[in-house]
Amino acid sequence: MRDGQHYYRGRLAPSPTGYLHLGHARTFRIAAERARAAGGRLVLRNDDLDATRFHMGYSQAILEDLRWLGLTWDEGPDVGGPNAPYNQSERGPIYRAALEKLHASGLIYPCERSRRDVIDAAAAPHEGGPADEPIYPARFRPPPDAPLPPLGEKVSVNWRLRVPDGAVLSFVDGNCGLQEAVANRDFGDFPVWRKDDCPSYQLACAVDDAAMGITEVVRGADLIRSTFRQLLVFRALGLPEPGFYHCPLMAGPDGERLAKRHDALSLRTLRAQGMTPDEIIAKYLS
Ligand code: GLU
Repeated sequence: MRDGQHYYRGRLAPSPTGYLHLGHARTFRIAAERARAAGGRLVLRNDDLDATRFHMGYSQAILEDLRWLGLTWDEGPDVGGPNAPYNQSERGPIYRAALEKLHASGLIYPCERSRRDVIDAAAAPHEGGPADEPIYPARFRPPPDAPLPPLGEKVSVNWRLRVPDGAVLSFVDGNCGLQEAVANRDFGDFPVWRKDDCPSYQLACAVDDAAMGITEVVRGADLIRSTFRQLLVFRALGLPEPGFYHCPLMAGPDGERLAKRHDALSLRTLRAQGMTPDEIIAKYLS
């Protein structure tokens, strides 16, 4: 306990893009177990930022499926708590304040390039690299001293964070050990706000993890590179950084990482086939 709060605060942060599959279930069970073992608290945050991609029905289904599997949480959209709201779609003003702070600090810039432009340009030698998204070419950046246009009440252009060229970022992952990445080699300038006036995942996630007092982020290893981006967001905003614990990804029967196409391994499907939570845990999650 610290300041009347539990010292360990973890979170489950599902995106309502579909039904939960076994990979999510395993990660969320690890997150819940780490919070329990530390005598801490667990927050459920609904990452429903992107209204165009999400169907609200999935938010409800995800909570139901997690409860069915036996998970509980101390704060969340269905139980409330001191850090409400827990739906990202209701936290717009919090993200906007963070964007304004980044704008005032001059660490971001507007970017008119399309995704296609970036992909085509990044295909040139030395600008690709083993990244999850192409590295934003340095020559597309405005000069660092170029005056920034105002954000405008409604944002209609992408805003990117300028990463510190060549900076070596590192963190010690609770599961995977020391992780290192070099800014502008392993990942480049990334969006913090989109032209449809929606914050990016990187911005919203870092802002919320700090605002909700999260001390350890447990999530899939596919997000390790995003962790480096989020470290830069924490630093740019002067926010406290949590610890990280990245879980190995689960493979489907085809050996590929589990994804939405593996419908057969959704909790809904397994449940409809008559499996109990205990059977699912014993067969797939232990
Ligand atoms: N909501 C994001 C997702 O489901 C992950 C968030 C996170 O754990 O940082 O991919």
